[in-house]
Amino acid sequence: MSGAFEIRARELIAAGKRLADQGWVPATSGNLSARLEDGTFAITVSGVHKGCLTLADIMRVDDRGRSLDGRRPSAETQLHLALYRRWPRVQAILHPHSPAAVLASRLFGGHLVLEDHELLKALDGIDTHAHRLVVPIFPNDQDIPRLADRVDRWIDENGDIHAYIIAGHGFYTWGDSVSSALVAVEALEFMFHCEVTLHGVRK
Ligand SMILES: [Zn+2]
Repeated sequence: MSGAFEIRARELIAAGKRLADQGWVPATSGNLSARLEDGTFAITVSGVHKGCLTLADIMRVDDRGRSLDGRRPSAETQLHLALYRRWPRVQAILHPHSPAAVLASRLFGGHLVLEDHELLKALDGIDTHAHRLVVPIFPNDQDIPRLADRVDRWIDENGDIHAYIIAGHGFYTWGDSVSSALVAVEALEFMFHCEVTLHGVRK
């Protein structure tokens, strides 16, 4: 196990604990990943609780998603890799299954607009609350390549995003480090929660 892998893996383990403590990765849901300097990726294996990860629960894949250590990556690995391919600056991606993201997807169709939130400033490149952030909401899909294509097409047509929600499922966000991705998760979840509370849960 290389030193660089272990450093990133330990950051992912700590991030998993933080997300689990908030109830944002219930059961064995969610996945977490980080880019390594050699162009490979550390990512959580599927089927384990993200609140009690060990080094053995973080695997390594190449840029096509092929396992480098004999373990089988989860299908959602392809969603991570599509984001890494698009934006070289992205160093870590977190995918919680959080309640406010799921509720927001039930309440809002197509996309969610976040504006006039001080916490927008927690996201990379945003320095004022007076910003209109569109978070697309995609239908859930067990066909991951098809879902990845849909995300790619949306970004091609509409421009860069900071996060996307998968309806009834959770959301993806990212950053230039594991810690900045964690900040983005907390900020987004807070804003999702505010919007859901403001607009009311559908009866
Ligand atoms: Zn998921």
